[in-house]
Amino acid sequence: MTAPLLTLAQILNRLTLTARWTLRDHQPRPDGRCPLCQVPDCAVASAARDLLTALKQTRWIGER
Ligand SMILES: [Zn+2]
Repeated sequence: MTAPLLTLAQILNRLTLTARWTLRDHQPRPDGRCPLCQVPDCAVASAARDLLTALKQTRWIGER
């Protein structure tokens, strides 16, 4: 037996969680710079935001 495959819902759920954690870690400081990347308009945060937006539009995930 190979490792159990995740269902699509599980994958989407994990993606959502990861994106949320990423977004929290890369939340811009009041001066607009990312505390981790030390740059304004952190690309990681933008990608996480885009991902969350896309995931919300799938409606495959519960309301958590
Ligand atoms: Zn960042």
